[in-house]
Amino acid sequence: MSLPEDVMEWGCAACGGTLEMVKVGFTYMKGNFEVDLPACSSCGMVLVSEELATGKMADAERILEDK
Ligand SMILES: [Zn+2]
Repeated sequence: MSLPEDVMEWGCAACGGTLEMVKVGFTYMKGNFEVDLPACSSCGMVLVSEELATGKMADAERILEDK
């Protein structure tokens, strides 16, 4: 799972700030996961496309199934 390089060039849609990768924790299927997502370094808005979020969820399911 990797992000397209140009994702970091989008900038924040809300304030125009630069993006950085941050760890975001979420709970899914009774499991806790941390994923790296692009977030604004100025206002903290996390950019998650539907495609990206779905991919992360699929990864999470695989992690659970491995256990
Ligand atoms: Zn911002």
